[in-house]
Amino acid sequence: MGLEQYKGDMGMCCRCSCCKFIPLQQVQGHPYSTVCPSISRFDFHAYSGGGRLNIGTAMLDGSLKYTDKLLHVVYNCQMCGACGVSCNYAMDMEVQEPINEIRIRCVEDGKTDPALDKVIQRLRKQGSMVPAAGKRGAWASGLKLKNIARNKVDVLFHVGCLTSYDKGMHKLARATAEILKKAGVDFGIAGDNETCCGGRAYQMGYEKDFLRQAKKNMAMIKKAGVKTVVTACADGYQAFKVLYDKFGLKKDLEVVHISEYIDTLIKSGRLKLRKKAGMAVTYHDPCRLGRMGEPWVHWKGKKIPGDRFVFDPPKQYRRGSNGVYESPRNVLQSIPGLKLTEMTRIREYAWCCGAGGGVRESNPEFASWTARERIDEAASTGAEAIVTACPWCEKTFNEAIAASGSSLKVYDIVELVANAL
Ligand code: SF4
Ligand code: SF4
Repeated sequence: MGLEQYKGDMGMCCRCSCCKFIPLQQVQGHPYSTVCPSISRFDFHAYSGGGRLNIGTAMLDGSLKYTDKLLHVVYNCQMCGACGVSCNYAMDMEVQEPINEIRIRCVEDGKTDPALDKVIQRLRKQGSMVPAAGKRGAWASGLKLKNIARNKVDVLFHVGCLTSYDKGMHKLARATAEILKKAGVDFGIAGDNETCCGGRAYQMGYEKDFLRQAKKNMAMIKKAGVKTVVTACADGYQAFKVLYDKFGLKKDLEVVHISEYIDTLIKSGRLKLRKKAGMAVTYHDPCRLGRMGEPWVHWKGKKIPGDRFVFDPPKQYRRGSNGVYESPRNVLQSIPGLKLTEMTRIREYAWCCGAGGGVRESNPEFASWTARERIDEAASTGAEAIVTACPWCEKTFNEAIAASGSSLKVYDIVELVANAL
């Protein structure tokens, strides 16, 4: 069905431009009122959510041919979902799904970005989205963790490509393992046999590569008898929880982000945070843990003949409000001495870190610009540090801080929790 299934939704766009901003009720002033990095950076309607729907309509009726400019629009989008959530504040129509389908159509037509092609070649050869130097499970050296290939465990900690292969990110995997061990969770890892979740390939438009990775992961999980997957990466979380479910692959697998798991462990008394942090921080909602991490809705119904937008039963839309927002905040507020201040654009209206949709790889200057916007917003709260719950955000923020000279610090939530144990 691809893009065709969203013809009605795309035709519904009234060009109101609400998808460029957070909802009016949330606006606190001109700064930080925008929500879409793409339209904010390139300042031409085609780069907005609504503009992309107009492009989709024109692609379907054959009135728009591929040009370099069109591909510049297509690949300069973080697939962050903010436009859809802002649109859906008032409108009942799909926005993010057709934007994904435009990407998928471009890839199917061979209209790809060379930088993303390179990433996907690596994925096909090495099962990783980042250069796979050394062994995937090297981060766990000396920790004596169980491996799901040899030990029967209910809980699998899926580490993810960036945390596994980037030595600077090993600290996140080690902190996560330390937290789970301290709480007495009987968990295992896949070690060198772990492979990419495929989520970032899907964002880039490579649907077939995503599906191949998803099937590999689910076969391994089934063979090992794993019941719960814990991720400390927002992309991994969204892939296992939402995308695998969308394509009917998740079955009854429970998928939990580490912030949710820690929240539960603290509430049940299995984890006690005692060491004082003495720091003011602000929390960045990763797109794929927040709005894009909202569970998939398996709506079944039919269109009422003659009317494109009336469904029986009424269609349920994912509006972003059911993402993971409370758990990370609960966890941060459980750390003694830590003061949490909020930015303007939070929860489903959070501004992207810049790394999504392959932009980090294909258009790094735009990714960095997007991250700097968020760093400015974080600094404006008076916080000393921005805390996130995804290695891609941490990496992108740190690089942007190094380039901009900001004194803001960046932490992942697992680092702060491990320090407070
Ligand atoms: S996508 Fe939604 S919010 Fe954006 S212009 Fe169209 S109708 Fe308005
Ligand atoms: S997905 Fe994000 S970057 Fe892309 S058009 Fe929507 S809000 Fe803008």
